[in-house]
Amino acid sequence: MSNKRIAIMGYGKIAKDQHVPAIIKTDGAELVAIVSSRRDSPDGIPVFSSLLELAESNIAVDAVALCTPPKGRADIAREAMSRGWHVLLEKPPGATIMEVEQLSGYAVSTGRTLFATWHAQYNAAVDKAATFLADQEISSFAIDWRENVRKWHPGQTWLWQAGGFGVFDPGINALSIATKIIPVDFHVDQASLFVAENHQAPIAANISFSGAFAKNASAEFDFRTTGDEIWTIKVKTKTHLLRLEQGGSLLKIDGETVLEQHADEEYSTIYARFVELMQNGQSDVDLAPLKLTADAFMIGERHNVAPFAG
Ligand code: NAP
Repeated sequence: MSNKRIAIMGYGKIAKDQHVPAIIKTDGAELVAIVSSRRDSPDGIPVFSSLLELAESNIAVDAVALCTPPKGRADIAREAMSRGWHVLLEKPPGATIMEVEQLSGYAVSTGRTLFATWHAQYNAAVDKAATFLADQEISSFAIDWRENVRKWHPGQTWLWQAGGFGVFDPGINALSIATKIIPVDFHVDQASLFVAENHQAPIAANISFSGAFAKNASAEFDFRTTGDEIWTIKVKTKTHLLRLEQGGSLLKIDGETVLEQHADEEYSTIYARFVELMQNGQSDVDLAPLKLTADAFMIGERHNVAPFAG
């Protein structure tokens, strides 16, 4: 079968760090163009300033991977599909639930593949955790997700604006893992959102979840840490303690390391899946992590905190 010819739109941190190398090493995928408002691209790859300019070029394209910020991404995806291209969405798939739901409907009506990726789910340790927990009685879980925003998101002003998600930009990765591995229903019960006076989106958040388990579960997200990042999910079952560390790439059960995967493999797995979805004429749009995030914003108590430069 011929390669799926993919263009990336938004040549920022994640496009450079992960998408370009992953497409290059994925069988059945080929990087054919970049769409960048700054006209930046890897050596040898043609660059266009808009989807229109790409469409008017003589370059054949099957799909576009959208690595722009979440606000506005759904409109770009709709334009890409209207031009006949399949679409891969970076996480979170959009800024609102309705726009992504409607985009899913548009993908069906146009016969395009829409793939809403949750990169943290594409991890062998996360799969193994889900399999292990599938028949366990869950007592509770606790998410601890802290990172230094100045290290991981330098200069990303969009992150702090309304629709930029703030600390939920990384926090939603934890939620995407939780929704994959926790085998029972749960929902947001309470939330506190801490918003720096000079920003719109939260810099930290505490969430309590209730569900079909004995004790309420919790999540703490914080962008203000200056030490090493902590990306850990702890799940207590009636008889075991499971820990996913390092963003879901290291699994420990009852203190023993069960599996460790190099985090870079997430994106190769994502592109292999994208190729498969396109070949089979299917889409994959999981809204659960976005719904939990929206619910936390909807019922969260807002607390103003000191201005933050970052
Ligand atoms: P970024 O470094 O700011 O890059 C985003 C790119 O999108 C920009 O370089 C720009 O590319 C384009 N863009 C279009 N409209 C923009 C706007 N209004 N403001 C700023 N840039 C705009 O962001 P990123 O870290 O790559 O994140 C992009 C998406 O990937 C986010 O949804 C994020 O959650 C997700 N993601 C990021 C990481 C990470 O480690 N950073 C990891 C996983 C997922 P051009 O100048 O080329 O047009």
